[in-house]
Amino acid sequence: MKRLLAAALAVTALSGFAQGYPGSKPISIVVPFAAGGPTDRVARDLAEAMRKTMGGGANFVVENVGGAGGTIGATKVARAAPDGHTLMLFHIGMASTPALYRKLQYKPLEDFEYLGLVNEVPMTLIGKPQLPANTYRDFEAYIRANSGKLNLAHAGLGSASHICGLMWQHAIKLNDAMTTIPFGGTAPAMNALVGGQVDVMCDQTTNTTGQIEGGRVKAFAVTTPKALSGHKLLKDYPSLQEMGLKDFNLTIWHGLYAPKGTPPAVLTQLNTAMKAALKDPAFIKKQEGLGAVVVTDKRMEPEAHKAFVAGEIAKLKPVIEAAGKFAD
Ligand code: ASP
Repeated sequence: MKRLLAAALAVTALSGFAQGYPGSKPISIVVPFAAGGPTDRVARDLAEAMRKTMGGGANFVVENVGGAGGTIGATKVARAAPDGHTLMLFHIGMASTPALYRKLQYKPLEDFEYLGLVNEVPMTLIGKPQLPANTYRDFEAYIRANSGKLNLAHAGLGSASHICGLMWQHAIKLNDAMTTIPFGGTAPAMNALVGGQVDVMCDQTTNTTGQIEGGRVKAFAVTTPKALSGHKLLKDYPSLQEMGLKDFNLTIWHGLYAPKGTPPAVLTQLNTAMKAALKDPAFIKKQEGLGAVVVTDKRMEPEAHKAFVAGEIAKLKPVIEAAGKFAD
């Protein structure tokens, strides 16, 4: 018996995996936005893929803690027990919020363990179905002609939709042309857009593709430097650069995090399972259908993830400050 136990311990040590983890307790992936939105969708697909790659019947749940551009959920995760049972899937907001919130309750580079980047997702500029414009040029002309009368929906200060809206208004030299309306995520914002209660939104293709295809919203442009010629639906929309917005380039990335102090063996186990999940053909196919691209192998590593976020924090600060707006 003793020998068996010693052998099991040796295997655990060799594999670098944590003994007894995750056990029967679920692993919660906190999404700092509302259910049904783009971050939520990536998290649920990832949870499903990781459930398979963790083996041993690991049980994942997705917990939506929306509000304040993702900072409420991120604060909760920064303060959670570092036992491998609370993780977070967050996007570019991890790097944009330091430039927007004077009293951020967590330090992005100090209060989390980095588990690796997941994917990259372009954004689309969309409008309510009742807008008279059908092309980007007509859309921009309509916004100019109606400056001060329209609403821009977003998922809170620092969210992807908010940054995109700020950058776009700044690029067309129409700062504050629209009243910004924050939601707890772009799922409820999308409902308001489809219902015609708000006018404009910029959101990840993971949320907009189905709505564009169903004719429930109008799409005008994508935020990548070039049009998405490889995508069967999105190929029809020009990039903002092609429409004359020099250097406009915004792609949203997602990464997986754990609270600081999570044991190294648990982190190794999670990173291994995440990397295997990102290679699952079913996961890759789902992502591609929604316009997203899984990151390269190197970027799935914790060190590369952390270095990338540090670079993004430095890169986004001047961009956001130029476009304006701060939160307390
Ligand atoms: N797409 C949202 C954003 O603008 C977040 C979400 O609801 O997933 O950041």
